[in-house]
Amino acid sequence: MFPKKINNEVLWKKITKLRERIQKETNFRKRTCWKCGKDLNIYDFLSDNTEFSVDYIIKLWQHTLLEFHCCECFKDLKWGELRSVADQLKYRYCQYCNKVMDLFTFSKVNKDLKIEELKKIWLNSESPIFCDNLCHRKFRREEYFKRLGQ
Ligand SMILES: [Zn+2]
Ligand SMILES: [Zn+2]
Repeated sequence: MFPKKINNEVLWKKITKLRERIQKETNFRKRTCWKCGKDLNIYDFLSDNTEFSVDYIIKLWQHTLLEFHCCECFKDLKWGELRSVADQLKYRYCQYCNKVMDLFTFSKVNKDLKIEELKKIWLNSESPIFCDNLCHRKFRREEYFKRLGQ
């Protein structure tokens, strides 16, 4: 019953604190994945959301209106969202080299973007997209020199 990713002392302290908090909780919930019914572990939930405080973790976990997904189902969910955006616009072109790109490639190049941000950029033809960072840099460099030349 231990989390997979104990990678630092801060997390370890949080886990200890969480364990104490759970013991004080009168109706600690047993949670299962909303979609597939797999048992969920609050320590995994904590290690996936290390930026949350222990109190906040407990609050979310005990919340009667929130439903949780296991990692697998959560990934499927995101994939589904991405698909529906791709259905609206299948391809775009790199602003610099004109290479054709699909949304899945674009999301891989921009791993840090959330689905909402990806969607906003992808569906807005005014926002240029690039096949990689190199194209982006080259493009900005050319824009810069163009501006200088004016
Ligand atoms: Zn699941
Ligand atoms: Zn390119």
